[in-house]
Amino acid sequence: MSTPRLANLIDGRLQAPHHDAWLEVHEPATGAVFALCPDSDATDVEAAVAAASRAAPGWSSTPIEQRAHLLQRLADLVEARLEEFAALESRDSGKPLALARRLDIPRAVSNLRYFAAAIVGWGSESHATEIGAAGSGAINYTLRQPLGVVGCISPWNLPLYLFSWKIAPALAAGNTVVAKPSEVTPCTAALLGELSIEAGFPPGVLNIVQGRGPSVGQAIVEHPRVKAISFTGSTATGANIASVAAMQFKKVSLEMGGKNPAIVFADADLSDANMDTIVRSGFANQGEICLCGSRLLIQRSIYEAFRERYLARVQALRVGDPSAADNDLGAMVSQAHYDKVLGCIEQARAEGGRILCGGEALAQAGRCADGWFIAPTVIEGLPSSAQTNQQEIFGPVVALIPFEDEAEALAIANDSRYGLAASLWTRDLSRAHRLGAALDFGIVWINCWLLRDLRTPFGGTKQSGLGREGGNDALHFFTEPKNVCIRY
Ligand code: NAD
Repeated sequence: MSTPRLANLIDGRLQAPHHDAWLEVHEPATGAVFALCPDSDATDVEAAVAAASRAAPGWSSTPIEQRAHLLQRLADLVEARLEEFAALESRDSGKPLALARRLDIPRAVSNLRYFAAAIVGWGSESHATEIGAAGSGAINYTLRQPLGVVGCISPWNLPLYLFSWKIAPALAAGNTVVAKPSEVTPCTAALLGELSIEAGFPPGVLNIVQGRGPSVGQAIVEHPRVKAISFTGSTATGANIASVAAMQFKKVSLEMGGKNPAIVFADADLSDANMDTIVRSGFANQGEICLCGSRLLIQRSIYEAFRERYLARVQALRVGDPSAADNDLGAMVSQAHYDKVLGCIEQARAEGGRILCGGEALAQAGRCADGWFIAPTVIEGLPSSAQTNQQEIFGPVVALIPFEDEAEALAIANDSRYGLAASLWTRDLSRAHRLGAALDFGIVWINCWLLRDLRTPFGGTKQSGLGREGGNDALHFFTEPKNVCIRY
């Protein structure tokens, strides 16, 4: 049987890449190739941008209710095939099927539904200006118009979740889209593209060009008719995109890497449920979530007792075949990423870190014998300045760091070039508010983790991000405000 081939979606039609070049898509749990992804290039991007440009005037003048209706229809279609999407996401990325079923695909549905509803309820401002003479003044109102053609570029860790998080506000706001999912996990975006035809999106409104970053991604960013780039991925790629886009004064929204602290104070409520959340915050999705807390700061007075409870829980995590219902962690997304994470563990050893559990690849029997599995790893004994505590590992690796008091916890937490998300565990309300303000991160979770409300601003400070997604921030990003002033 020949290997299935994914297609690009350009101008409302599923198409092979112009140069008939293909990339192998691996199943991380087995290492085997299970699909071929278009290895598209600038020719395909040009066709997609041309289609998106043709579709832009019609789409921007389509009534908001109609745009919202199509997004809702697409959400319905994804929801109706949730099991198929979840199985495909798990197979493509190595994440547990249960997680894809519970988190990734439902969240993709919510993204589509949220922005369909948000655009219907959206308004813009007006300002009444007094000029001085009685009965004289001006009304300023703000038009928020779509930008035209926009580019959306997404990573492999939450494939459909983050892909839909970008295209939904872009389309809702009246833009046409040229989108590129990660070439490492292209499958669910390809299926979404097929469903967008069934949903009834006009040709050219949503275009999906599959392929590698330096060819397809770069061509989207460089294209003069693409007015804005919404990107999620690594800081290195984001920096490159920012510099290319700057030459054309293009709008960019960049969601990038993280090295997030989870801070546990002695007064925290460490119930079993909260301990489970703290463990999850380090190891969910094999630690391949930009929001995972990979630096676990623990107040010294409870350090030993906490460490023992924590380790017992981490060692109880089940790692294995992502399709098995009882596994907590699946496989690392690719051979390259597996090698990188194992290299980081080696580096931690070389820096003098003590490996308290894990620290190695995990051999599996049967169908997963050639898969890319790593044991959940906990390290201690390294200062905040160590590479292990500074670089993003993006795997199932957590380093424990003791602290004396609030001031030291804050100093260690902020000692990072990243600033995506921090979580904080305390019963002290004043401390919670104080640190909520003082932590230099885009998101601070207090006594919780990954509790998301799609209306809130999402993004990071420092090298974690530029701009915010979510709610009105996303709709602002994907529109151009215009001030209209009428004197009377
Ligand atoms: P990556 O930067 O390698 O790739 C991300 C996307 O950019 C892919 O689609 C890739 O093909 C594309 N790309 C690569 N080079 C490009 C170029 N020159 N021009 C345009 N596009 C290009 O990142 P990744 O390895 O896929 O994802 C992991 C990273 O993503 C981690 O650093 C993680 O922290 C980050 N991430 C951040 C968030 C967030 O919200 N801040 C969310 C998820 C992941």
